[in-house]
Amino acid sequence: MVKNHALQQWCIEDSIELYGIRNWGAGYFTISEAGEVVICPQGPKGPQISILEVIAGLRERGYDMPVLLRVENILDARIASIHESFRKAIKNLSYKGAYRGVFPIKVNQQQQVVEKISQFGTRYHHGMEVGSKAELIAAVSLMRDTQACIVCNGYKDEEFIDLGLQAHRLGYNLFFVLEMPSELDVLLERATLLNVRPNIGVRIKLAVKADGHWTDSGGERSTFGLSPAQLVDVVDKLKTCGMLDCFRLLHYHLGSQISNIRGIRTGVIESARLYAGLAQEGAPMGYLDLGGGLAVDYDGSHTNYVSSCNYSLDEYCADIVEAIMSILDEQNVPHPHIITESGRATVAYYSVLLFNILDVSAVEEVQLPDALPMDTPDPVHNLREVFSAISLRNLQECYNDAIYYRDEMRQLFFTGRVTLRQRTLAERFFWAIIIRIAREKTRLKNVPRDLENIDISLADIYYGNFSVFQSLPDSWAIDQLFPIMPIHRLNEFPSRQAIISDITCDSDGRIDHFIDPQGMKPTLELHSLRDGEEYYLGAFLVGAYQETLGDLHNLMGDTNVVSIRAADDGSYEYVREIRGDSVADILTYVEYDPQRILENLRGTAEQAVRQGRISPSERFAIMQAFEDGLRGYTYFER
Ligand SMILES: *Cc1c(COP(=O)(O)O)cnc(C)c1O
Repeated sequence: MVKNHALQQWCIEDSIELYGIRNWGAGYFTISEAGEVVICPQGPKGPQISILEVIAGLRERGYDMPVLLRVENILDARIASIHESFRKAIKNLSYKGAYRGVFPIKVNQQQQVVEKISQFGTRYHHGMEVGSKAELIAAVSLMRDTQACIVCNGYKDEEFIDLGLQAHRLGYNLFFVLEMPSELDVLLERATLLNVRPNIGVRIKLAVKADGHWTDSGGERSTFGLSPAQLVDVVDKLKTCGMLDCFRLLHYHLGSQISNIRGIRTGVIESARLYAGLAQEGAPMGYLDLGGGLAVDYDGSHTNYVSSCNYSLDEYCADIVEAIMSILDEQNVPHPHIITESGRATVAYYSVLLFNILDVSAVEEVQLPDALPMDTPDPVHNLREVFSAISLRNLQECYNDAIYYRDEMRQLFFTGRVTLRQRTLAERFFWAIIIRIAREKTRLKNVPRDLENIDISLADIYYGNFSVFQSLPDSWAIDQLFPIMPIHRLNEFPSRQAIISDITCDSDGRIDHFIDPQGMKPTLELHSLRDGEEYYLGAFLVGAYQETLGDLHNLMGDTNVVSIRAADDGSYEYVREIRGDSVADILTYVEYDPQRILENLRGTAEQAVRQGRISPSERFAIMQAFEDGLRGYTYFER
């Protein structure tokens, strides 16, 4: 809860605690003395970059909100952390294999993202995981480092296999992972034809199932992967055709955001047993691929809650290495190279969605009349009585009565027996009662259940210049929590309780669940808007899964995307700018032709000229307005 600021000056430490930025920021974000969220490209002790300043620079360059801001240094640092953590665990435990990370392209397929991962990952031989022909072509086009792995998952047709075989010939360390037994025949046939001895891997279904939102791809009922019996069939078939030496990798994927380290550990142990079995069958093996699942602590609670995780990166790596060793040493099987396919944990941190608040709708203090008109209906009189009877002892009763009489008035209105003004009068008394109850409630030790959520109905609605469907689809689709907070004025007391609505006018286009150390909260503390001054919020940790899933709800398109890169002295440059969709772009996606649109409009305008409704020069101005509109940004422009 927010402390009583009347007793004490609000300071940035209070904001740090309220918004939990130290808990979820992983050292990449904090709050400066000036009360602004700052990026720390080299960790908490290094230089700081004010996001507000970055926005000011973008405004000067002609970019409107919303903007997706990428901080390249953070991506670089994430890749380094994952590799360094594995390196440390491998060294400490004297593990004999190496670590090879791959990035699953589906987690963020944007060209500049994959390109940067390939660039920053080269020093660690960081590779790519691909699940389709398109992703394979994208990966090969951006990877120069042939020591890095390419893991081909997904159901593969002949063409996919041919592309993979050609990439193999180019020298890439490429693995075909069989998702279904039937893929093997095609692979063997094409490999023989192209005279390539491919690296073959198999995806297995594990019996264990990790808990979490996104973990439906694991477990025995998962759609992809081979059962142990099918695995043995593959071994037999490879033996028969003299290709067992191509069997190099075992893969599984339990699902994403595995928030409990126990789930990680049981998966590793089961797969290590299967791996040992394959080695004992005579397959050369050499690689164990544990898939994704490394979670992001979105709410900063460090628990096994779905939006969190109860382990650190170091613990994750040490547990994996230790578990593999414990099984394989016992079976006298050499240690494999370890591959993980961390997507979320690699890219989530490096993107922030920035947007401004366009308007606020608040439940106002209500002015009540001293006397009621003669013809006032009974329920209004009753509401007035309820209002004057409120005391600490009867809050629940007053609440029930208020709802009852308000509903009665609504009923009378539907059937035409009271006027609009009479109904409005009733609503004013109703809200006056609710506001008073909410205020009194804070003095209760035990709040009745019905009254617990009364503050939510009194929360302000802050209208943000963005689309939930386009930019935070998981917030809408699976109630995923992202840390959201103001990026400035953090040395001021945030006096309002708010929910956030986007500008799609869809009742689902809202955010009413926010991170909280105790789970989640229905409203977010925000500052009152100030006249003539923008108020900016950031939605953090949005780099994974949010970009390609987004849809064109209400034809709101891609936002502007800007990448910055900081130098060691804390100076930074705008290294990449991608303009968001224009209205014309968006209409084209749904098969309109902007040229045709203008022709049609011209026809309508000319007709209006003929009918004397507008002059020819007015026609010119009207057409100009539509042409400008087509060129404009799909979001609210100031
Ligand atoms: C989605 C996916 C991943 C990525 O999982 P994260 O939890 O984001 O790391 C990895 N491997 C496969 C096969 C996937 O389908």
